[in-house]
Amino acid sequence: MRLFGKKEPSTPTCKVCGMEFTETERMVRHMNKAHSKPVGSKKTV
Ligand SMILES: [Zn+2]
Repeated sequence: MRLFGKKEPSTPTCKVCGMEFTETERMVRHMNKAHSKPVGSKKTV
């Protein structure tokens, strides 16, 4: 097993707007909230 000094090699960044987050979970929630889904024809609430 490797050392647990570092969590992730890179900072979780939104691939849509390029915003950086301290935690991957925050990035995921941001994407779900801000970008929910790619421009599609269906709209689910
Ligand atoms: Zn974003």
